[in-house]
Amino acid sequence: MGCYMQKNITILYVEDEDVIRENTKRPLTRLCDTLIVASDGQEGLNLYKKYRPDIVVSDIKMPNMNGIEMCRAIKNIDKDQHIVFTTAHSECGYFMDAIDMQIDCYILKPIDYDLLENKANKIIDTISNKYKLRQQEILINEIAKLQDNLLIVLDCKQNIVFSNDRFLHFFDVNTLDDFKETYSILSSLFIEGEDFFTACNENWLLDLQKLPKKEQVVSIMNKALAEPQVFLVSVKEISETSHTILILTEITHIADETKELKQKAFTDDLTSIYNRAYFNKMLIKQMQDNQDCLSLILLDVDRFKDFNDVYGHQVGDKVLQSLASIINAKIRTADIFARWGGEEFTIILSDTNLANALKVAENLRQTIEEYIFIGDLKVTCSFGVAEATKEDVPDTLIKRADDALYRAKTGGRNRVAQ
Ligand code: GH3
Ligand code: MG
Ligand code: MG
Repeated sequence: MGCYMQKNITILYVEDEDVIRENTKRPLTRLCDTLIVASDGQEGLNLYKKYRPDIVVSDIKMPNMNGIEMCRAIKNIDKDQHIVFTTAHSECGYFMDAIDMQIDCYILKPIDYDLLENKANKIIDTISNKYKLRQQEILINEIAKLQDNLLIVLDCKQNIVFSNDRFLHFFDVNTLDDFKETYSILSSLFIEGEDFFTACNENWLLDLQKLPKKEQVVSIMNKALAEPQVFLVSVKEISETSHTILILTEITHIADETKELKQKAFTDDLTSIYNRAYFNKMLIKQMQDNQDCLSLILLDVDRFKDFNDVYGHQVGDKVLQSLASIINAKIRTADIFARWGGEEFTIILSDTNLANALKVAENLRQTIEEYIFIGDLKVTCSFGVAEATKEDVPDTLIKRADDALYRAKTGGRNRVAQ
């Protein structure tokens, strides 16, 4: 980035000998914008405090306070203060003190003005570069502040080296160090969830980037919030510096809406249990995950057409609703209970073999048989049960359960068949 404001350079020159002081003032004036001059250490220190110059050029042996004492006091105020000593050979005894104090350099008297200019210019370069760097920092901070999103920069070891105010504000901390102290590492904050990315290892950034854009979503909880928030993550790698910029855009309300829509899409309107679309999806998933031991029940209300004809469709609807509640209350939460369509239902029983699935079906059959619906109405159901084999795909498993259901119907209804 170019065209920054130039830093105005101020030099404090401290020298007790009038002739040397007057002669050295001229070359120093050329080097800086403001030259301040003092004739002993005490005056030098006072002027230092008042003007905070960029460079102090000082003699060592002086009345009131010598150069070493003065500079020690100055270094206590600013340990990075640039200091140049001008010394006579006879003052060599002070060198160790000067080195201890980490001064920039010393120049032997009589002062070689070219050398002084040369050394001072080097220091001025360093000061100017620091100043430019600081200006860049301010600029970057201001740009980052304009971001409505949380913005952080990670180094190659995934340490956060920069964040914008939004990020700190979200986590209710004042500085990055506070964040690191309170929350440790970023990836450990990603909360698990069906639709959210979580970090499994140190290469999580690469894993995240491999996902389709719309799945680069994380859920994060801060200490102040009761509910986690959902963020879309954009990753930009800066290969020149081995840094990575992460931008987290809050999409909690969109994620909530999507979740709600998804729930709607998978819910049966009449009974509020899962619908066939969800059943299909889950059967595929569970057969992939758990093919060793998985059973399926299909059940169908007996002679429901006649029931509707006698009591009306609305009463029939109420019966279907009650039936869904009764069954829901009887099965495990891990079981997937769905309306297959019409007056047919299905239950996926994970970790359940045929014998146990038959028991579940028989239990449900009896419960329904004994249940008294609105008024004194009764219905019965027929059940088809099948256990998945290694060779099964969803269609073949459903077909076997359906065939079993057919046998239960033809066998006289209100019964369980396999
Ligand atoms: P079966 O014992 O052989 O199953 O006889 P069924 O009469 O139950 O079978 P069929 O397939 O001939 O008829 C199903 C009936 O289920 C017809 C329809 O009126 C009723 N039905 C399907 N969906 C609904 C629903 O949402 N509400 C109501 N009230 N009835 C429904
Ligand atoms: Mg039917
Ligand atoms: Mg029926």
